Amino acid sequence: TVAVVLFTSDLRLHDHPPLRAALAAADEVVPLFVRDPAVHAAGFDVPNRAAFLADCLTDLDAGLRRRGGRLVVRSGPVVREVCSVVAECHAAEVHLAAGVTRFAHRREELLRKALGERGVALRVHDAVVTAVPPGAVVPANGDHYAVFTPYLRRWSAERLREVCPAPRGVRVPEVVRGEAPASRAEVSGVSPGLPAGGESAGRERFARWARSGLSGYADRQDDLAGDATSRLSPYLHFGALSAVEVVRRARGAGGPGAEAFVRQLCWRDFHHQVLAARPESSVRDYRTRGDHWRTEEDAARDIEAWRAGRTGYPMVDAAMRQLREEGWMHNRARLLAASFLTKTLYADWRIGARHFLVWLVDGDIVSNQLNWQWVAGTGTDTRPHRVLNPVVQGKRFDPEGAYVRRWVPELRAVESPLVHEPWRLPERERDGLGYPSPLIDLGEGLARFRRARDRD
Ligand code: FAD
Repeated sequence: TVAVVLFTSDLRLHDHPPLRAALAAADEVVPLFVRDPAVHAAGFDVPNRAAFLADCLTDLDAGLRRRGGRLVVRSGPVVREVCSVVAECHAAEVHLAAGVTRFAHRREELLRKALGERGVALRVHDAVVTAVPPGAVVPANGDHYAVFTPYLRRWSAERLREVCPAPRGVRVPEVVRGEAPASRAEVSGVSPGLPAGGESAGRERFARWARSGLSGYADRQDDLAGDATSRLSPYLHFGALSAVEVVRRARGAGGPGAEAFVRQLCWRDFHHQVLAARPESSVRDYRTRGDHWRTEEDAARDIEAWRAGRTGYPMVDAAMRQLREEGWMHNRARLLAASFLTKTLYADWRIGARHFLVWLVDGDIVSNQLNWQWVAGTGTDTRPHRVLNPVVQGKRFDPEGAYVRRWVPELRAVESPLVHEPWRLPERERDGLGYPSPLIDLGEGLARFRRARDRD
């Protein structure tokens, strides 16, 4: 007998329940990845993620080859490709990780129908992408948690499934052919600081970080210059690392660092359960804040300066330049950059979310859209009117100004604390920097925000 495993956001061999179930049920297994033109058409196939994906697929293929198998890569509409692979090898079942996006739901629905017509079973596995499956914990009076803290309490009490070991061997039927996985070198326009993708790189990074970063995480997670977070987000996004395994191993390490880290991983699951219950909130306000947003047309000049990292606010500009250079941004910087766009410039959160998705290597419909909504005040923040001040935040989370100097070379020679407010330098010095004056007065931005809020 033959089973097919359709890999999607779970590009790994360790702790992979669909693969394990397929190997238990069948003599031969087809590990399949489909390049669906719909993903490309949706604009999701951007250089940074395409390059990281290429690494993930190459590594997955190498891991399978070491076990006697190989990865089968096909291009075309996913349902058509799965059905043709099933027909070629007479597979009896297809295994797949459950997803929460509208795209994942539709894929699952269409696959179930098409495979059902052929008498082939579709087996969908939970707790592959998240640690706790969306919907596994629900409040008494609703279908999902809209507030993080009560969710965290319930989530922390859940028993996680056991971690499954990587398979020893995988036999792939000869008859099924595929393409070679693309290589990273074929992708152009990639950020220079993009890390290597793949399960091997992810496991190595996690092991290193668990040894030397985890225990200090609680104290250092907001230290922008210290860069002391795990940087595991792209590996989690592509499923090169398993959330269940990462949570279990962190809990095993224990201590305040591990506790704070696991709390962040809970945010990931929290947003997944929100999106699973409200799939439309990837594009629409989860909670309405009125329709006074400035659009791309209203605020073209401001938005362009924000995208380019030339707002004149050093923390915001450092954040936006890090995004282009590394395809990644520190969480504190994301909060600040997003608050500035939505609350100080008062631009529609979707404009910022779209820009982040163009660059972020961990760019993820669930985490990106719902964090943007959280910051914009249309999401699950219980204090939707808070506005982050980039100067105050800079002095607090980058007290020496090292993060700003790293990403904004024009300010390298400016001493702290003026590196966070260069407009206060004597005019002659300021003019020589080649750094823009503030795009907007923070007080003015705040007043506009409050006027709009009071109208709502
Ligand atoms: P660590 O601090 O080491 O945290 C460990 C893991 O926990 C992360 O890898 C991530 O998987 C998860 N995590 C941490 N914070 C959050 C959070 N707030 N929401 C969801 N998961 C979290 N994260 C993404 O993975 N993809 C995105 O597209 C994304 N867009 C964001 C957009 C905005 C406006 C904001 C404010 C946050 C966004 N985040 C996103 C969340 C967070 O900023 C990143 O997950 C984190 O910065 C990644 O760095 P790290 O792996 O070093 O995190």
